[in-house]
Amino acid sequence: MKTLKCTRCGKEIKGGFYNAPSGASCCECWDKVPQKEKNKELEKALSKLASIGRNLK
Ligand SMILES: [Zn+2]
Repeated sequence: MKTLKCTRCGKEIKGGFYNAPSGASCCECWDKVPQKEKNKELEKALSKLASIGRNLK
């Protein structure tokens, strides 16, 4: 089984994680991400979804 590593701390992810557009992040690291950066990640994720939606039309 492929192990998933946190892109922020490099540790193997066991249990919950956040699949941010810039890479998977463990809960511990995600908690330390500033809200501003979280919003940016969210925007990126949404724009990705939007482009997928456009391609389907
Ligand atoms: Zn981490």
